[in-house]
Amino acid sequence: MSMDFRNKVALITGGAGGIGRATSLAFAKAGARVVVVDRDAPGGEETARQVRDAGGEARFVAADVTRSAEVRGYAQAALDAFGRIDCFFNNAGIEGKVAPTAEYDEDLFDTVIAVNLKGVFLGLRHVLPVMLRQGGGAIVNTASTAGVAGSPGLSAYVASKHGVIGLTRTAASEYGHAGIRINAVCPGPTDTRMIRSLEEQSAPGGSNSVRERYQSAIPIGRYAVPEEIANLVLFLSSDLAASITGGQYLIDGGRLASPAALR
Ligand code: NAD
Repeated sequence: MSMDFRNKVALITGGAGGIGRATSLAFAKAGARVVVVDRDAPGGEETARQVRDAGGEARFVAADVTRSAEVRGYAQAALDAFGRIDCFFNNAGIEGKVAPTAEYDEDLFDTVIAVNLKGVFLGLRHVLPVMLRQGGGAIVNTASTAGVAGSPGLSAYVASKHGVIGLTRTAASEYGHAGIRINAVCPGPTDTRMIRSLEEQSAPGGSNSVRERYQSAIPIGRYAVPEEIANLVLFLSSDLAASITGGQYLIDGGRLASPAALR
């Protein structure tokens, strides 16, 4: 029982940057062969290059997670490259715009749901059959603290992430008997492009005050770094977590530990 991923294949969506890139590198350092998926081809190729520079094996597959044919395509590409999929990090996501619910743009609402919720569903839809044929696997879906609590101005994002937790619970209950474990991670603010976009939307022009306000609501006093989220994803994907399925795991520096921290 260990976090040894030698002879394993890990498939990561949203791998062109942030949490997905850090997790791709962490899987590779632990011995996995890695398939990086993203709609951002230069960013995805760069992640694959970084994996190879670190001595690992990686392929990049360009795909939009909202398109069923492209999701089927990335699962097939992983099989073509490495013959199996042991670990699947279903992670691609977008933040949408910050606006109160009564003013939230209807088309943008659909887009956020399409990427964050339907994209995760399509990943499950096309990777689960592969794992069923293999006789097992481990899946981690990226939810958020916004999957377990409201967040003013982010109605589409919050709805999508609550949905990811519902999908995770349901699929875990359906496939546990088949040796497939499915969990969700719920990061709080993490230092990636996404949190910088939300800061910029809250205070156009790059005021430091938003970052300070966000960080002051976190008991540990800082954002997570993507490598910390990667550590949790690897643990949940490893044999050490063999009896863990259907769960959602906060990694938020204590942000949701107190109702006051929700402000
Ligand atoms: P990020 O913007 O760096 O990464 C998101 C990646 O998803 C990008 O590489 C982007 O190109 C890709 N992507 C977006 N739409 C796609 C599509 N339709 N098809 C394929 N790829 C697509 O930000 P991140 O923080 O690393 O986000 C990763 C995940 O973590 C997201 O699901 C996000 O909601 C979640 N999350 C982030 C934070 C945070 O504070 N950064 C907090 C909680 C949850």
